[in-house]
Amino acid sequence: MKLAPRLTLIFFLIAIVPLVIVGVATYEISRQTLLRQTMNHLISTNILKEAELNRWIEDGKKHLERLAGRPLLRERFASVMQADADNSADPAHEKDHQQIVADHLAPYLATGGFLEVFILRPGDGLISISTDAAQEGKYQENQPYFVEGRKGTYVQNVTYSQSLEQGVMTVATPIRDRQGNLIAVLGGRFDLGELTRIIEQGRGLNQTEDTYLANKFNFFVTESRFGKSFALKKTVNSEGVIAALRGNDGIGLYLDYRGVPVIGAYNWLPNRELCLITEIEQSEAFAPIVRMGWVVIGIALAIALAAALIAFLFARTITRPVQQLVEGAGEIGRGNLDCKVSLSTGDEIGELSRAFDCMTTELKTTTVSRDELAREKDFSDSVINTLPGVFTLFDEERRCIRWNRNLEQFTEHSAEEMSRMTLRDFFSQEEQKLVAETIEQAFIEGEASVEANLLTKSRRSIPLYLTGMRIKIGDRNLLAGVGMDITERRRAEDQLKKALVDLERSNKELEQFAFVASHDLQEPLRMVSSYTQLLAERYEGQLDEKAKKYIAYAVDGAVRMQRLINDLLTYSRVATRGQSLETADSHALLGEAIRNLGAAIDESQALITTDDLPTVHVDPAQLVLVFQNLLSNAIKFRGEDFPRVHVSASDAGREWAFAVTDNGIGIDPQYADRIFVIFQRLHTRLEYPGTGIGLAVCKRIVERHGGRIWFDSEFGKGSSFFFSLPK
Ligand code: ADP
Repeated sequence: MKLAPRLTLIFFLIAIVPLVIVGVATYEISRQTLLRQTMNHLISTNILKEAELNRWIEDGKKHLERLAGRPLLRERFASVMQADADNSADPAHEKDHQQIVADHLAPYLATGGFLEVFILRPGDGLISISTDAAQEGKYQENQPYFVEGRKGTYVQNVTYSQSLEQGVMTVATPIRDRQGNLIAVLGGRFDLGELTRIIEQGRGLNQTEDTYLANKFNFFVTESRFGKSFALKKTVNSEGVIAALRGNDGIGLYLDYRGVPVIGAYNWLPNRELCLITEIEQSEAFAPIVRMGWVVIGIALAIALAAALIAFLFARTITRPVQQLVEGAGEIGRGNLDCKVSLSTGDEIGELSRAFDCMTTELKTTTVSRDELAREKDFSDSVINTLPGVFTLFDEERRCIRWNRNLEQFTEHSAEEMSRMTLRDFFSQEEQKLVAETIEQAFIEGEASVEANLLTKSRRSIPLYLTGMRIKIGDRNLLAGVGMDITERRRAEDQLKKALVDLERSNKELEQFAFVASHDLQEPLRMVSSYTQLLAERYEGQLDEKAKKYIAYAVDGAVRMQRLINDLLTYSRVATRGQSLETADSHALLGEAIRNLGAAIDESQALITTDDLPTVHVDPAQLVLVFQNLLSNAIKFRGEDFPRVHVSASDAGREWAFAVTDNGIGIDPQYADRIFVIFQRLHTRLEYPGTGIGLAVCKRIVERHGGRIWFDSEFGKGSSFFFSLPK
């Protein structure tokens, strides 16, 4: 339910509930008070009516007793009696009879409230004289009022008289002479209409108040307010009458003889054997509070409706701005972050609206930065996902907090599984320690690498080259790990290793062959050479010029072959007879080479200069051979000037770079690849002697030491030969 109707309802209830409670309580209290008052009234009415009834009866009795005590009546009645006894028809007696009626009895009809006054003969109960002449001559000897009336004054309760065809109530009293002898019984029938009048008296004050008498046979004795001729003709069985007939006095709420709800007071009058009932309709008794109830309900409703109206108007002052806030929130929900509510009220809702506007401004800023953040994340995600290898980011607890798709594909684990794994789970037990140590090292030193095999879910292993780099993000130290798949490299390395082994083996075989060949060929060659020379010496003079020329060719060929074989032997010995490396002064070794070349230097008048040369880690004899070959070439391939050769060395970081520079004929760059190949020469033997092995030997020695050899030359102006040696 919305706020406005809810507040309206709440205020309505808050107003109406106490009013209803107070109204009901007031109603109940008033009703009780009214009931009590009514009951008191009814009880007092009954008491009053009973007293009036008794007084009326007592008055009747007294009237009758006074009448019975009149001497004149006694005397006249005595004479009437005498005349009756004498059966005389004396008019004087008849006159007495009439006078008794006229002078004594009749006046009491008016004043005593009697319908009939009569005198009974004491002996047989004959009605001798009566105000109702029709009753004279009837015998009443069995009537209780006659029997009891002889003894003293007696009131007989209401009975129905068959002869009179109506209810009667008779009072009787004895008439005695001066001596006290009974001479007659005086009787009087009460006028029950008078009784009804007494009982009815005063009930006109209320519209429904009704007082009546009922006898022990439930018959009405007096007329009721709402009935006609009910007396001794109609019964009444109301709760009040039934209770009274049981001998109880009381008051209660019940249905009266008409079935109408009444408040009734009932009394049992034992002397008269009558019920005295006074009733009033409940609707009349409670009419004031019913009126009051309607007034209270009217007031309560008016107050509650007023409260509801005020609440509704008040709620509107809250709900309208709240509605604006709701609409604003809806707008923002639809993505319109420029929406502003801007209420100018100074109350809490105004404050709320301003806070709301601040929030939307903040939200806009946050959304913009969030979008930027999302773009940044997309960017970084696509970068790490396009990395060729695997990428992971570890936190301080070595947990994997971010990774690229390659890692999921490599390991075959889902992202959900990955999030629960630590680095160790990706490696075999043997490698876990190594990887963990590398990670620790990377965290401490900033960077570390290791080669390890990544285990996949299906227990395959992929060789990776892993590099861990410490990165600082905010105040957190994280570790970015990159792993490259080195399966191909491993395969290539394996192939290379195998090729190297094969190469080494074939090299060794080749060297063995060269060594064996050069060594074993020397002997027959020496024989060819010596016997040819011997032949020339022995048959000198006998041989013609042609034969001498041929022998000279053979000797020359044998000598050249010997030289070639020696050179080949030298070349093969670089590897097979090489000494172990030792620290040596390269300057001293250069000096030894210069000394070995003493004759050639002198003969060519060459000038050899040198800088400071470093101490190196070499096979000394072989370095001497390198210097010797390079110097020898520099002198041999001299130009027209005297040869000038300069030897220097420079520090090239991890190695020394030596240079031998000359001013000779230079080398055409197109032959750069050829000159280091064994037996390859650029000149004929006639131009420059040699076998073409010098530079090949140099290359082999330098490479044996882990260095390399190259040259730089300007054709016709000189050459520089360089070689490097690791430090
Ligand atoms: P050889 O000296 O026996 O000919 P090398 O192997 O020492 O054999 O040299 C090969 C070739 O390189 C030489 O024939 C020559 O043509 C060229 N060469 C070597 N050193 C020099 C140099 N300092 N100046 C010019 N040419 C050179």
